Amino acid sequence: MATKIMDCDLLVIGMGGIGSICAGKAIDLLPGKKIIVIEKAKKPGGASILAHGLQIYDSEWQRKAGAEISEPKAISGQFWDWFVTKGGAEKYFMVKETVNWGMTNQKWGIDMPYRIDKYRKLDDPSIGPGYWGSFIVDKIMECCEKANVPVLLETPARKFIKDSGGRITGVLADSRDGELQINFKACFIGAGGFGSDYKKCQALWPKVYNNIPMHNLCPPSLTGDLIDAAEEAGAGIDLKNAGANVQGPIHHPYSYTVVSMTRSIGLQVNLEGERAVNQGGGGPGRETANPLIYSIADQDNIEKAGPAAADSISEPYEHEIAKNKWRQELADEIAVDEKGRYGRHTTKADTLVELALKLNMDPNVLIATVEKYNKEIESGGGQGGQGGQGGQSGPQGMPGGQGGQGSPQGMEGGQGAPQGMQGGQGGQGGGQGGQGGQGGQQGGGMGGMAGMGASQMPVKKGPFYAIFQQRFSQCTHGGIIVNAKHEVLDTRGNVMPGMYAGGDCTTEYTVSTGAQTSRQGGGGMRGGVGIFGNYRAGQGGGMMGIPKGMTAAINIAEYLKKA
Ligand SMILES: Cc1cc2nc3c(=O)[nH]c(=O)nc-3n(C[C@H](O)[C@H](O)[C@H](O)COP(=O)(O)OP(=O)(O)OC[C@H]3O[C@@H](n4cnc5c(N)ncnc54)[C@H](O)[C@@H]3O)c2cc1C
Repeated sequence: MATKIMDCDLLVIGMGGIGSICAGKAIDLLPGKKIIVIEKAKKPGGASILAHGLQIYDSEWQRKAGAEISEPKAISGQFWDWFVTKGGAEKYFMVKETVNWGMTNQKWGIDMPYRIDKYRKLDDPSIGPGYWGSFIVDKIMECCEKANVPVLLETPARKFIKDSGGRITGVLADSRDGELQINFKACFIGAGGFGSDYKKCQALWPKVYNNIPMHNLCPPSLTGDLIDAAEEAGAGIDLKNAGANVQGPIHHPYSYTVVSMTRSIGLQVNLEGERAVNQGGGGPGRETANPLIYSIADQDNIEKAGPAAADSISEPYEHEIAKNKWRQELADEIAVDEKGRYGRHTTKADTLVELALKLNMDPNVLIATVEKYNKEIESGGGQGGQGGQGGQSGPQGMPGGQGGQGSPQGMEGGQGAPQGMQGGQGGQGGGQGGQGGQGGQQGGGMGGMAGMGASQMPVKKGPFYAIFQQRFSQCTHGGIIVNAKHEVLDTRGNVMPGMYAGGDCTTEYTVSTGAQTSRQGGGGMRGGVGIFGNYRAGQGGGMMGIPKGMTAAINIAEYLKKA
């Protein structure tokens, strides 16, 4: 079949978060210019439609609600004030007093307490489409439709084409109708990370991607094709500063209420029934983190953890479920387990021996672990439990309770909302991020106190419960080297004319001033940074990188005006 040829001024590759923002802003800035978007997957959105953790600083929205904002406005605020002109934000978003994360003085944040309508009935509010990311992508899809900008789905870009002078002028893509060649004057690559390519991840982080099964939440289209294609075309690639979001272990998927209950359970054991203590005290990237664990509770622990679950859920509907129906939620999971359904869930048994047998553990090991734990609790000298379990990607920023985002390289950068909180504190959390560190780490030393939480109580009175938790991976960040204008740099650091990139597929090099602030960091520099001569390298991407699609579009528009 003959290759079909299309021409455009701007080609956007990847209709995820940053690609959609770049396309949407380019539509506004480049009237009369031909813009095309191609997307590998059957539907737009990439990882971005599953994510929520965007923080907006210094927008007019916040000012109108009485917040003091800084001038000049942060990129996120500039982005938001442009984006709300597309309409509809007032239906889902509100300005709200926030927790102060200590990283900025911002007191007022923007909250999205409910999913957008079409996703509202989904079961699990801790994850999945319907929040910030979906709102952004859906809105820009609308803009593309109105502006007659084609968004070609199931059209993966494969290889860049160069002219005789070595300049990139087009791309080859596959489509259902055969090969497509799209010639462009400028191109923005927003093709995401490579979290769904296990081998690539394993090559970089073998201790984390160590063949122990890991729950993968990354969309399958994210295999880093465009990092490879850009490398082949001569772009500089930096994976030394790349990072992966690997979190957990946490009880996921299944009931949000039960997830939340585990946060106040003090005893975690590994699959052999031995105490799982995260000595690194931090993120799952640390070698000491146990990828698969059970939270072990007795009936008294459960009676405390059940009502406590609601306290950590701010989403109103789910809060009510946790508050009023936690017994039902737990029972539903146990029923799944008793039906012998594939996988591990929540297991219940009258005795510890029976529980151990159901979990394929040696009962003597589990009993010894529980007895030792109880002694520590009762003597007031508890050693602290798991601590450092990954914060769940909760749209409402559930108190992470269980550690942090951590990166396989042991970088400290917390992902998402709190922007660079130390791994081991606070989870990925959405809107408000996690708070971390509760549960085991605070567990010991308080035995005998009235009104104590489940994490401060021994495990004695049957029936007993084991709630399974596993590590999960989401995305990677880092790859194509770009400068602060989102121009792609070649292997010698020269700008590749017309080539722009951003988001999870990039590593961003900015001139180091020695005065990087956390707010600049929140604009898309990831936690892990390295210094190269005068440059400071940070992983592009994360939800906080998405507003930079606007910066890229502004630079592309200037370039195209001159081209
Ligand atoms: C479950 C989950 C929860 C998360 N929660 C948070 C959070 O709360 N906070 C936070 O900061 N981050 C979170 N993240 C990470 C965040 O989603 C990503 O870092 C961010 O969305 C990346 O945006 P992006 O636009 O760079 O990439 P994506 O949104 O992944 O978009 C890339 C797009 O490019 C397309 N593509 C790939 N290859 C090709 C190709 N060859 N041709 C054409 N198109 C291609 C993909 O299909 C995809 O649509 C989460 C991720 C997941 C999976």
